[in-house]
Amino acid sequence: MAEEKFYKYVIVGGGVSAGYAAREFGRHGVKPGELAIISKEAVAPYERPALSKAYLFPEGTARLPGFHVCVGSGGERLLPEWYAEKGIDLLLSTEIVKADLASKFLVSAAGTTFKYEVLIIATGSTVIKLTDFGVQGADANNIFYLREIDDADKLIAAIKEKKDGKAVIVGGGYIGLELGAALKVNNLDVTMVYPEPWCMPRLFTAEIAAFYEGYYANKGIKIIKGTVAVGFDSDTNGNVTAVKLKDGRVLDADIVVVGVGGRPLTTLFKGQVEEEKNGIKTDGYFKTSVPGVYAVGDVATFPLKLYNELRRVEHVDHARKSAEQAVKAIKASEEGGSIETYDYLPYFYSRSFNLSWQFYGDNVGDTVLFGDNNPESSKPKFGAYWIKNGRVVGAFLEAGTPEENKAIAKVARVQPPVEDLEKLTKEGLAFASAL
Ligand code: FAD
Repeated sequence: MAEEKFYKYVIVGGGVSAGYAAREFGRHGVKPGELAIISKEAVAPYERPALSKAYLFPEGTARLPGFHVCVGSGGERLLPEWYAEKGIDLLLSTEIVKADLASKFLVSAAGTTFKYEVLIIATGSTVIKLTDFGVQGADANNIFYLREIDDADKLIAAIKEKKDGKAVIVGGGYIGLELGAALKVNNLDVTMVYPEPWCMPRLFTAEIAAFYEGYYANKGIKIIKGTVAVGFDSDTNGNVTAVKLKDGRVLDADIVVVGVGGRPLTTLFKGQVEEEKNGIKTDGYFKTSVPGVYAVGDVATFPLKLYNELRRVEHVDHARKSAEQAVKAIKASEEGGSIETYDYLPYFYSRSFNLSWQFYGDNVGDTVLFGDNNPESSKPKFGAYWIKNGRVVGAFLEAGTPEENKAIAKVARVQPPVEDLEKLTKEGLAFASAL
């Protein structure tokens, strides 16, 4: 007979938000057998951003158990033993294939039914694949995507096999930029291809992007903009040999890494819960339209109080904080209390080579650039402010110290008024530091 299990709380998904939710349950005191985390990954929750950074480095390599949550935010590292000690069931390599939110149960691929009182949906995102659009030859071997640790392990095996070979990165977002750098550090000959006029166009201004593109070019990375990959050639073993571009160029390739975006994993719940902006709609406690069901991390479309609108955020900081907020809200409501609604300041960062930037707030309105953004400089350091309706609403900083990063975060939160943009440009970081 098919197995049936019951838990008071179930978290479906075992990524960043699941791990931070588990820690929060631990803080509030969870009884043995009350909580299960069900994950299709084979390992306990870890800090996913490491996969495109130190996990791929030939030196100073990050490996599990080193980067299990919550080390990414300076917290305690939750090893599998931690969950066992707390009596939290970590059900790994277990994929949920069916969800019935009205009747409060989930079913795994192996046929186990999991009943619950409270469900936290933490399924994150999946990558968009070129095969989804029927790109010719996109199913060849050695074309990689990066979302989970298994993907990273396959890429590392290919890097070793194709030592000193040619790599093509398709996509100019943060995954493309971080992967381009990581493969270069591994001594591959790297070419990046993207259709937009500059990298990270959803966040970067042309001036910010010019710095990173110049820096990458100095490192020997070739960048081809304004065109897309329309097909791939492969050899008789099915291994990719070339990337065909729309503009007619053909690039030799031993390894291709594609980073063209993600899609929140909400399919299991379609038609059962209210959705908005491609995600599961929640309130400021991450409660969905279905009683007893919460959604956190990449899948949640939540009220962003600061801008008075519903947003979905695919960043690690929000994954951590939304998970903590949901568990606090669950616990408070059990005790008949309540907590403040989520008040999030968008924060995003990336690191590659010796570079490291942070961004806080909203990237809307006019921009001013300050500092030294010359990629030839020995110590480039620069930033930007976004100004809307006479107030600074967003701030970006490359090479900031922890104090300076705190200062730009404060600017984005406080939204100080500015009248003279020229003066703001001259003041640069001093404007933030003086606040
Ligand atoms: P995830 O961490 O993706 O976890 C989802 C989990 O659910 C996974 O374990 C998945 O296997 C599991 N799952 C999904 N469906 C099922 C199912 N049906 N059954 C069982 N389990 C299921 N953000 C930043 O701000 N800065 C960065 O530098 C940065 N770098 C990144 C680098 C990479 C390579 C990636 C992929 C992402 C990066 N991000 C970064 C984004 C950040 O990692 C995500 O926003 C964050 O992980 C979202 O957390 P989550 O818990 O919602 O989803």
